[in-house]
Amino acid sequence: MLEKMGDRLDPDVVIEEFEALSRDAGRVQKETLKKILEENGETEYLMKWGLNGKTDPISFKSCVPLVTHADLEPYIQRIAHGENSSILTGKPITTISLTSGTSQGKPKFVPFNDELLENTMQIYKTSFSFRNREFPIGNGKALQFIYGSRQFKTKGGLAAGTATTNVYSDKKFKTTMRAMQTSCCSPDEVIFSTNCEESLYCHLLCGLIFRDQVQVVSSTFAHGIVHAFRTFEGKWEDLVNDVRRGELCSWIKTPSLRTAMSKLLNPNPGLANIIYNKCMGLSNWYGVIQELFPNTKYIYGIMTGSMEPYLKKLRHYAGDLPLLSADYGASEGWIGANVNPELPPELAKFAVLPNIGYFEFIPLKEDLIVEPQPIELTEVNIGEEYEIIVTNFAGLYRYRLGDVVKVKGFHNSTPELQFICRRNLLLTVNIDKNTEKDLQLAVKAAANLLEEEKLEVVDFTSGIDSSTEPAHYVIYWEISGEASEELLKECCNCLDKSFLDPGYVSSRKVKTIGALELRILKKGTFHKILDHFVELGAAVSQFKTPRCVGTKNQTLLQILRHNVVKNYFSSAF
Ligand code: AMP
Repeated sequence: MLEKMGDRLDPDVVIEEFEALSRDAGRVQKETLKKILEENGETEYLMKWGLNGKTDPISFKSCVPLVTHADLEPYIQRIAHGENSSILTGKPITTISLTSGTSQGKPKFVPFNDELLENTMQIYKTSFSFRNREFPIGNGKALQFIYGSRQFKTKGGLAAGTATTNVYSDKKFKTTMRAMQTSCCSPDEVIFSTNCEESLYCHLLCGLIFRDQVQVVSSTFAHGIVHAFRTFEGKWEDLVNDVRRGELCSWIKTPSLRTAMSKLLNPNPGLANIIYNKCMGLSNWYGVIQELFPNTKYIYGIMTGSMEPYLKKLRHYAGDLPLLSADYGASEGWIGANVNPELPPELAKFAVLPNIGYFEFIPLKEDLIVEPQPIELTEVNIGEEYEIIVTNFAGLYRYRLGDVVKVKGFHNSTPELQFICRRNLLLTVNIDKNTEKDLQLAVKAAANLLEEEKLEVVDFTSGIDSSTEPAHYVIYWEISGEASEELLKECCNCLDKSFLDPGYVSSRKVKTIGALELRILKKGTFHKILDHFVELGAAVSQFKTPRCVGTKNQTLLQILRHNVVKNYFSSAF
């Protein structure tokens, strides 16, 4: 589809294609829906809703209901169990993706197919082309902290893995990375090792070996880069030693990793000395990425939504390097590309690609009691918030993704969306409603106080404790060091005061919600949480710290409970 210059991608051609699509977004949406319904009209699911071959938006919306994952789960299960009749799609589904599962506590199955892979490549190429216009790169490599998770077969013999794993393991991924001059500096054995800790160490080592060629440092989500350099802080001397001796340290046990790395390693005392001196010259690791990889042009990954809390640390590691926020999508399918790479991550917005799915938007106006009807892509209004509904080429019809987005503007006639939060992530006891964004802002305000003692919040989550009467909010913090009692009390009060939702404030005043509790966790607790999700089959690449832990997620609650070292109750009200 996309023209190439030899092996290389021609950004001008890609941009022109995107401009054409976005100029005519309304028509492209109708055609996309028609194509999806033509391909899949004979499926059990669409037949059930009586579409009878109709492919226009009005019939589609009047016949087919809005659904959540739970509604489609029985169909997806049958596919996973190997029933190969046309259940959700005309063409058989051969691969299943596991969502990261960090919002619901356990990974969900969603269908994956070639069309979703093509969409992924289209999104990658589109945003790369815009990025390359502002931040051109030459021939080189990318230090990509990416991880294939465990892949397995479902009962019915379908391949199953996280969406990122399904993408990384396809040869089109490598071809596209090559076309974008950002081939990963790590060999496949490193990407696909099942031991994430070993894998991360080897990614770092590969980066150091190819240090002069690295042009981009990236991971799917910003958390992956911060996690990598936090690890680097503790392991850098081992890494320098490995470069010096040309030998992998002995704690890496996986044979395939040892073999793959031995092919890249040669004793290199000169390089080891350079890295050693660079590290010794840094103050509190400020600018480490820039120092270690001097030809890096930018840092790249999803930095919006639940990744925003990591930006401060990422900027610290990045020094003067620009942070470029990556695109918007989900295991269920992609939505929009970042075509304004010059904007700081806090302002990132995503232009919807109108040919990769059919999108609807439920207006979220606070004064409406009855849920309003979804509207079309080109009908959305600037400044308003919506819940996004996806119909894709892989068997999801009018699927509530659960994300809230805000329309920031239009690129030609396609909207540019800002990610706001997950819709279902609410801290609520009675009439109060706090979203992930509200939590993030409260944590940000309170974390600023920690700066007095040169400390930072490593990561955080929250929950409701209903064992007290009345129930109260609990915020869990892991901090980079020891903070004084005084300061933590102050932070706790600040958290309580920073939830500005009128329902919360009034409930706190009349004590129908109890005093907010700040629980401080042992160092390394969030590492344990990451390990827990990886054990459940999630990929480090897709990991997002759950920002609110409900009672359904007992294992996670237990990890949190067992690691609390101190707690404070707010006296702010
Ligand atoms: P997954 O379970 O890994 O498929 O996660 C998909 C979810 O990640 C989406 O529904 C969003 O909530 C979140 N997400 C994906 N891309 C972005 C982005 N660019 N900004 C913020 N959140 C994102």
